[in-house]
Amino acid sequence: MAKKNTIEEPVAPKRGGLFEYAPAPESPAAAGDIATSYGHFIGGEFVDSSGSEALKTVNPATEQVLAEFAQGTDEDVDRAVAAARKAFAGWSALPGSERAKYLFRIARIIQERSRELAVLESIDNGKPIRETRDVDLPLVAAHFFYYAGWADKLDYAGFGAAPKPLGVAGQVIPWNFPLLMLAWKIAPALATGNTVVLKPAETTPLTALRFADICRQAGLPKGVVNIVTGDGRTGAALTAHPDVNKVAFTGSTPVGRAIAKQLAGTRKKLSLELGGKAANIVFDDAAIDQAVEGIVNGIFFNQGHVCCAGSRLLVQESVQDELLDALKRRMATLRVGDPLDKNTDIGAINSAEQLARITALTDAGEAEGAERWSPACELPGTGFWFKPTVFTGVSQAHRIAQEEIFGPVLSVLSFRTPEEAVAKANNTPYGLSAGVWTEKGSRILWMASKLKAGVVWANTFNKFDPTSPFGGYKESGYGREGGRHGLEAYLDV
Ligand code: NAD
Ligand code: MG
Repeated sequence: MAKKNTIEEPVAPKRGGLFEYAPAPESPAAAGDIATSYGHFIGGEFVDSSGSEALKTVNPATEQVLAEFAQGTDEDVDRAVAAARKAFAGWSALPGSERAKYLFRIARIIQERSRELAVLESIDNGKPIRETRDVDLPLVAAHFFYYAGWADKLDYAGFGAAPKPLGVAGQVIPWNFPLLMLAWKIAPALATGNTVVLKPAETTPLTALRFADICRQAGLPKGVVNIVTGDGRTGAALTAHPDVNKVAFTGSTPVGRAIAKQLAGTRKKLSLELGGKAANIVFDDAAIDQAVEGIVNGIFFNQGHVCCAGSRLLVQESVQDELLDALKRRMATLRVGDPLDKNTDIGAINSAEQLARITALTDAGEAEGAERWSPACELPGTGFWFKPTVFTGVSQAHRIAQEEIFGPVLSVLSFRTPEEAVAKANNTPYGLSAGVWTEKGSRILWMASKLKAGVVWANTFNKFDPTSPFGGYKESGYGREGGRHGLEAYLDV
């Protein structure tokens, strides 16, 4: 922990186009000190792993190694669960109003340190600073504020008088919104009186480790929050641990399915937030320019590494040409490059593995006969990058219409009638989200009642709020996070 790293800056790509922006780079130094190596955060202290295996996290925009961190062993997980168990008695016995004070304190510290956290998140994940600064961090703080407000009102949450916490929560999160997924998991767990062991994703552990420091700064009692790092092996050790009472997982459907099997026959409570293949449906009466903004936000936000991304555009046939022309014009203005440049719209793909997955699926799209288009844009020489891409002439059977690409890739299908739009939108094993663009309120309500999706946005997309429940149908998982519903996952009800 003593030595620290200096962060290399990526080489800015050359750009063409009508308007040339001067670079507006955020300073990587604002991320604060990054240690060369990290252990786990257990019982309020940073501790070494019982094993000797270390993993590396890189900056995907430069491929520079940022830090080493421990591959958590079964013994490490056991220690963390024991620390959480020990802390549970005291934490769950506190009046809700006392727990709320800690959560409010954490929320305020996150706001105070938001620039540091936003820069650190951009460096470790590859997402643009404009998004970490304006979306991720405000939502992270909002989640802690929101659940802090519930901590002393659980009697009135609709789960009966004095609802009880479950105990120790084992939480496993993905790399696409590292700190935000941490907030979605930790804030409701703590508000309801549980203690947690959280495992961040192996490509993005740094903001979770920095959050550990925030817990110390807030004076949170030792062991209430424990962070154990490592890959899927550590995750599996945590979800399998016999003294964990609740498992909360966000990630891919195959891993979610494996966890569901692992937990079958145990008394552990489980919530799963998995993949998606959302339809963004544009009717001929929609405001086309607004719809184009929503489509762009739906699929190119966070490089398309979004479980609820609007990855299938369903457009009514009569406006298809007009819409696609406008969409391509808009896509040509998207700026791909240095995540720390405040002008950047699309940052780096999170890892070489994810880039290979996106490349394989888009190659399959071409091979199956869909037509591929990307605007002219130069990509940086090092790091992991993918041009914003749209496929037309996509059939429902194509892999790019069925499988989650989890990248900046849009598949366009058309429809003629509302019934056809619903049938095509629901023709997926997933059911996380959907979007509807029309000026008719009655059609919005009719569509929302027919779409098998946990969230339906109308004339907007990718809007998040801590007061609103989020979660899936079918293979997108079960359980809800956010809102009053999000409390239920952590209460014995
Ligand atoms: P992943 O499932 O491989 O990994 C997610 C997390 O699970 C990581 O921390 C990983 O280390 C851990 N893990 C891996 N194997 C495990 C096992 N056997 N037992 C326990 N933990 C294990 O997914 P990913 O590649 O990190 O993330 C991308 C996927 O996550 C996409 O499919 C995306 O749709 C989904 N996702 C869903 C949501 C949502 O809210 N529904 C949010 C973000 C991402
Ligand atoms: Mg990283």
